[in-house]
Amino acid sequence: MHWRAQNIFFYVLLRLWAVALLSIFLVFQSLVYGHAETGQQSTSSSNIIIAFAALIAGDDNRTRLVVDFDQKIGYKTLFLENPNRLIIDLPDTVFNFGKDQQKALYGLVAGFRYGAIAPGRSRIVLLTKSPTRIDKSSLEPHGDNGHHRLKLDIVKTDVESYRNAIFLQSGDFGKSGNVAYKGDRIRRSRDANNKITIVIDPGHGGIDGGAEGKKAGAEKIITLDFAVKLKHELEKSNILRVLLTRNEDTFVSLSERVSFAQRNQADLMISLHADTLRQKQIRGATIYTLSKKGSDKLADYLANKENRSDLVAGLAIPEENTEVTDILIELTRRETKSFSLQIARNVVSQLKGRIKLIKNPLRAANFHVLRAPEVPSILIELGYLSNATDEIQLSSAKWQQTTAEHIKSAIMNYLRPKIARGQN
Ligand code: ZN
Repeated sequence: MHWRAQNIFFYVLLRLWAVALLSIFLVFQSLVYGHAETGQQSTSSSNIIIAFAALIAGDDNRTRLVVDFDQKIGYKTLFLENPNRLIIDLPDTVFNFGKDQQKALYGLVAGFRYGAIAPGRSRIVLLTKSPTRIDKSSLEPHGDNGHHRLKLDIVKTDVESYRNAIFLQSGDFGKSGNVAYKGDRIRRSRDANNKITIVIDPGHGGIDGGAEGKKAGAEKIITLDFAVKLKHELEKSNILRVLLTRNEDTFVSLSERVSFAQRNQADLMISLHADTLRQKQIRGATIYTLSKKGSDKLADYLANKENRSDLVAGLAIPEENTEVTDILIELTRRETKSFSLQIARNVVSQLKGRIKLIKNPLRAANFHVLRAPEVPSILIELGYLSNATDEIQLSSAKWQQTTAEHIKSAIMNYLRPKIARGQN
């Protein structure tokens, strides 16, 4: 209880701090740009764009928006969800749509709004009945006097593609300065490669075989097989970049696994294991997050065992840096902890009722491999090779595949709200 309260306190503190910084930035920005805007308007007010006609036509298969402007315009489209909207951002525009002009809603369009949204910026908002994508668009001279006609054809798309499109557009939009950044680390690291990076860490390898099953063989084989399946599942989503800490049967030290995730600016690290216990009746998957003090004896026992992985290969166990020297690292660590818990909870709720879980499947212990302060990390014990039923499942390709699919769903559920939050 004390730990939770303290954690929440720091989390709130961190948020307040972020909000304060953002407010200062916005005030500053409005002062600077506010002045510039007024100056510009007094000299070049004739440049204001006039949109003088709008038409929505079509049906649920294809809906067309037509807007006529008195001059050539620059515009930018983007999609938002909750509710589904297509936004058309414009420079300063006067909307002069006559009363008799067609503003009736057709096809996929459920709402039509327009107006100024900030000094020098205007916007058209189309509320859509379902997720859509732009199938065709054009801006061409129309008639005399330099008039231009904008045509946008929208068609239906599925939820997954829609969300991917929203995600891929958001980095771009953020950089343009139109949207305040919220310091979401998922978005930050995505700027480098435009994808979310997930590191999968198959436990053990090479000289370190990990646990031994009676029939299933070594843990290191199962974790790698599973990792490859999970990678394959995740890569079906084009917003994810998936990396493995090892692709073959080689030894990788625990600290190298951690630095691998850090070097690659992972947004998430998932370490995979399948150990043995003395209590042969215990079976089912467990999801672990990092905690100096284990949640229970079993968790402590397993973490100790896992942390000895480097010893097996003749390496010294890395020393733990307990001194907190940098408040920012500590704040990052706290935020990471909260993200790690979120993903762990998502995995538990996704697996519950679908595959066998241990009693109290959400646990915490001091696993070295989960220590990167800036990378949300979880460790999944897929099951126990010491249990006969688990052993059969763990080495079954079908079970591995199904479980990988559930874990993928959990990861997507974890990512979605983060993607959406950075969006407005
Ligand atoms: Zn292991």
